[in-house]
Amino acid sequence: MSSCLCRYTKRMVQRVCVIGGGSSGMTAIKSCLEEGLEPTCFESSEDIGGLWRFKENPESDRASIYQSVIINTSKEMMCFSDFPIPGHFPNYMHNSLIMEYFRMYAEHFKLIKHIRFQTKVLQVKPRPDFTHSGQWDVEIETRKGEKERQVFDAVMICIGHHCHPNLPLNDFPGIDTFKGQYFHSRDYKTADEWRGKKVVVIGIGNSGGDIAVELSRVCKQVFLSTRRGAWILNRVGTQGLPNDMNYNRRLLQIMFSMLPHSLVCRLGENQINQRFNHNIYSLKPKHRLRSQHPTVNDELPNRILSGTVMVKPNIKRLQGSSVVFDDGTVEDNIDLVVFATGYNFSFPFMPSQVLPVSRNKANLYKYVFPPGIERPTLAVIGLVQPLGAIMPISEIQTRWATRVFKGLTKLPTMEGMLKDIKRKEDVMSSRYVASQRHTIQVDYIQYMDEVANHIGVRPNILWLLLRDPALGFRVLLGPCTPYQYRLRGPGKWAGARQAILTQWDRMAQPLQTRPLDNPEPRQSSLLLALTVGAGALALGYYWAIHHHPSVLDALDPTTLLDKIKHHLAVWW
Ligand code: NAP
Repeated sequence: MSSCLCRYTKRMVQRVCVIGGGSSGMTAIKSCLEEGLEPTCFESSEDIGGLWRFKENPESDRASIYQSVIINTSKEMMCFSDFPIPGHFPNYMHNSLIMEYFRMYAEHFKLIKHIRFQTKVLQVKPRPDFTHSGQWDVEIETRKGEKERQVFDAVMICIGHHCHPNLPLNDFPGIDTFKGQYFHSRDYKTADEWRGKKVVVIGIGNSGGDIAVELSRVCKQVFLSTRRGAWILNRVGTQGLPNDMNYNRRLLQIMFSMLPHSLVCRLGENQINQRFNHNIYSLKPKHRLRSQHPTVNDELPNRILSGTVMVKPNIKRLQGSSVVFDDGTVEDNIDLVVFATGYNFSFPFMPSQVLPVSRNKANLYKYVFPPGIERPTLAVIGLVQPLGAIMPISEIQTRWATRVFKGLTKLPTMEGMLKDIKRKEDVMSSRYVASQRHTIQVDYIQYMDEVANHIGVRPNILWLLLRDPALGFRVLLGPCTPYQYRLRGPGKWAGARQAILTQWDRMAQPLQTRPLDNPEPRQSSLLLALTVGAGALALGYYWAIHHHPSVLDALDPTTLLDKIKHHLAVWW
């Protein structure tokens, strides 16, 4: 073993293969360059952007979006950590603007020259001497259709998890008799050709919600079928601020982690029901708020209230052009059924024993490193579904992976990794409803901090509060923007402090489009966080005392003290 290690340390990782030129692939190239590695990115299409580049005609095995998609994470929360999105860009960006941002990023960090476009990766295999070298044989097909083999010291897989549509036709008896058209949401592009038609949309994830709303503006009627309902969140939060900037805050998350799960859910559900009552709108699920990946849709209640979208239960069967629902109701003359039923992921170019995937579950340490291989020279990037933005997560994963490749950061033992994987699986299955869409869920701040700990870039809050209180308070109480992970350690960015101090200015800038005589003073983020935090605690306490005294058992002072100690230890 020691002789292997010896040889391994002598053979420095240099050449890194990056598979995919979407947002994860681009930030992977950048992290390689930052660490002095030589990245070569293989991108099967002719351009960067991956999922976010709209194309009229979807290509097989590639993600594809509809023309109107607007992202549901706000610009300050979703940007790469050392490259803020320009102040004048809107807070929630249309896909064309996201592409513009990616192009700026690629140009600024000179990433394009490292990408080989129209080059498909056919196969990635550990080399025969992998135990010693950690190297990979990569077979590619060039744009001319020629096959090539190259040897790489490490591989980063950046293909996303929306490539293969999940089309569960077997769950829908009679679909073969259906006289109308049906397709997966991946093949939906615009509402134009469905004017005046009757449509059923299956699934109430973000695709189903968006597509139902858009179709309802032109269709005769849209039915939105859901087998378990959903809690609907919105982009526009309190005071019109982006909701993710309100909620993804450290202090708030710490408080939530100290309160019982049911109490946190109850508080959130009450708040959501203030906007529209999910019971009255036939949307209320049996599960709790935090047990499902959130559907974010500001317009859905308006469309339901106007009757253009009608919420329906699951489909029992289809017959000719009729659709029979589980409650026995029948809708006739249906022209289209859209299966907004999510995606499956796989790694078709990898041997299945290296990266096994079963029912959307991959065995990866922190969703990045396969624990079973002898050399840590393979990383999967962006294979998470966060409650928050994914781009900063992909970025921090690539910062971690490149340092692991170089041997600057060590992974735990295989036993330690397997234990962590198992623990995460258990936590996920106890919190989320069983569904193949809930296999890679992560909470944004918690996950970012976990990875940041490995690299040594997690912000040290107590130190910040002492040395630079203006910054420290913003980091603790304000939105957990990605710049927080560039304040110290490897990859430290001199602009991070200023970016944090000015994050609310960039948020407000695109809204200041008409001069006002007496502009409303904005509530400071600090005050808002304190108010929200204290309010949440007080409400929780009030509710617990009056409605469910047994909950107070969970507020056992010893447990609370343990949690406080844990957080304090982590802050240091
Ligand atoms: P998804 O989140 O996986 O949702 C799939 C939906 O289909 C769920 O409601 C699921 O119900 C339902 N479903 C699956 N199989 C079914 C079956 N056999 N019978 C009945 N219902 C079934 O997929 P998605 O909405 O396409 O979203 C994919 C990802 O893209 C998510 O991360 C989402 O946030 C993201 N996205 C973002 C935006 C945006 O930023 N604007 C827009 C679209 C999508 P169960 O819950 O019961 O399994």
